[in-house]
Amino acid sequence: MEMLTEAKRRGLAGLAITDHGPAMKGRVNTTFFERLINPLDGIRLLKGMECNLVDDQGAVDFPMGSLKWADVLLLGIHPNTPQGLGAHANTAMLCNAIRKNPFLDIISHANEPQFPVDYNVVAAAAAFAGLAIEINNSKVLHKRCTPADTAALLDACKKSRCRVIVSSDAHALNEIGGDESVRPIIDSVRFPEELIVNATAERAFTFVEERRKFKT
Ligand SMILES: [Zn+2]
Repeated sequence: MEMLTEAKRRGLAGLAITDHGPAMKGRVNTTFFERLINPLDGIRLLKGMECNLVDDQGAVDFPMGSLKWADVLLLGIHPNTPQGLGAHANTAMLCNAIRKNPFLDIISHANEPQFPVDYNVVAAAAAFAGLAIEINNSKVLHKRCTPADTAALLDACKKSRCRVIVSSDAHALNEIGGDESVRPIIDSVRFPEELIVNATAERAFTFVEERRKFKT
């Protein structure tokens, strides 16, 4: 609730909250499910989850059969994703997940230093499936990935005409809605504004509705 209040104070029209899937520690709990309403007038809560990629066949830890509540589903690479396989295997694993799970909407922080992937291949697969790729402000802000890596990811998205979503990935109230660490990188690669899904709230809500047909 305090996150929504702060987001509203900052002038946002919507806020997506996407806790980690059940394969990770700190996973969704009962509070998460109690949150499945719009608790604050004047700002829309987009309900979602960041699913974990859990095996090389592309399996994710989303509780199947309960897709309808979700507005936005992310796919994340986290420490519980098989590690150390190299860029070729990692890329195949991620592409398998994109292909097998059409209900996913966004690939989160694809520029993970411990999990190298071929950005061009991933961006092309995401664009083909209609997914967006997250450009994560928090990772750059806290130096968990380099600006050069983010620029390379943006370049790949530009080439494939893959849409992106600029995300604060806020883990603290004062980071909500923040894009100050990635905005200069987006500008430096002259990323097309029309490919930024959440350049406006209206466009973001349209994306959510467009993806709803995959969540039956
Ligand atoms: Zn994540």
